[in-house]
Amino acid sequence: RAKEMGSNNYQFYTAAMNERALERLRIEGDLRTALERKEFVLHYQPQVDVRTGRIIGMEALIRWIHPKFGAISPIRFIEVAEETGMIVQIGAWVLRTACEFNKDLQRKGLGYLRVAVNLSVRQFYQKDLVQSIIKTLHDTELTPHYLEVELTESLVMSDVELAVGILKHLKSVGVQLSIDDFGTGYSSLAYLKRFPIDALKIDQSFVRDITNDQDDAAIVASIISLAHNLRLQVIAEGVETNEQIAFLRRQHCDEIQGFYFSPPVSSEAFEAMLREGKML
Ligand code: C2E
Ligand code: MG
Ligand code: MG
Ligand code: MG
Repeated sequence: RAKEMGSNNYQFYTAAMNERALERLRIEGDLRTALERKEFVLHYQPQVDVRTGRIIGMEALIRWIHPKFGAISPIRFIEVAEETGMIVQIGAWVLRTACEFNKDLQRKGLGYLRVAVNLSVRQFYQKDLVQSIIKTLHDTELTPHYLEVELTESLVMSDVELAVGILKHLKSVGVQLSIDDFGTGYSSLAYLKRFPIDALKIDQSFVRDITNDQDDAAIVASIISLAHNLRLQVIAEGVETNEQIAFLRRQHCDEIQGFYFSPPVSSEAFEAMLREGKML
């Protein structure tokens, strides 16, 4: 009987594994043609100045509209794209599309916002990263100051010496730099000091419980003062409630991003939000 069950479990296990392996293969195969078939879109999530209540920036977040499966979250395909190297072309498309959109908003008189783009490891350490960013800014006629790149701690820590060089080069071009998901990776304060960054983005896992977990409240308050003491801007991610905003305001957090103000939306909806003059 035990033997029987064992073999059933085994079959169940391999079936589940196969399904996952198949899904992965399918994603991998379909990703190859997704770019040319124009299946990607960027959504934009507003970033709001806590003091003025105004939208001062936006984060570009990729969406894959698969012809069969519909919208697929970046959590499911960015890693695959990273492993296969496809992230380089996809990332280049994201960068160009985000810069074009931002320039378009400026041309329409909708304000001078900053657009933030997420970079993945492979893309960041690509030899011609800085050159391709310079070229994209030139082609889209966007002033470098209105582009921000978001990097995670693990990304910059994976080769500190090289990362410092690339960040300095990017900084010299005039691009803004921020550390995404701050607090979830290795935080070596000694290295933080060496990175020429402009802002820290507090990870949403800390923000989630600030109003009912003393430890999370203490972590968030500490990150905010750390940032300010290092003369960095600080932005809280994943802000969903009024109570969280009240807390962040008391702690002098500079900016917020989260569902409370708006989820990521299409470029058309983002533009409509600006025309409407939506405020916090
Ligand atoms: P991230 O850069 O930390 O982006 C923030 C994520 O939090 C987004 O998920 C956003 O939709 C979600 N979010 C925003 N506000 C709230 C909130 O109030 N509550 C909750 N629960 N979630 C909120 P999304 O769009 O699914 O992206 C997931 C991750 O995928 C991103 O995390 C980023 O690491 C990666 N990603 C997205 N777009 C790109 C891209 O173009 N290139 C690269 N390399 N990675 C990307
Ligand atoms: Mg991000
Ligand atoms: Mg984040
Ligand atoms: Mg993340």
